[in-house]
Amino acid sequence: MDDATRELDELSGTLDAVEAAMARLDDGTYGRCEECGEPLKELLAGAPAAVHCGRCAQTSTDT
Ligand SMILES: [Zn+2]
Repeated sequence: MDDATRELDELSGTLDAVEAAMARLDDGTYGRCEECGEPLKELLAGAPAAVHCGRCAQTSTDT
């Protein structure tokens, strides 16, 4: 995979994450950790598609 292809692949993954975030915005779960339900400070720190708080992200194995 060359650099341009890899970059497109990453962008595509980011788009998927943003679309998932928008779906959560619709159902009212946006901005809360999927694991523990804590409000996500990460959203304010430049990670608009974050789904786990810092603590759960550290223990999560699915990233
Ligand atoms: Zn959490």
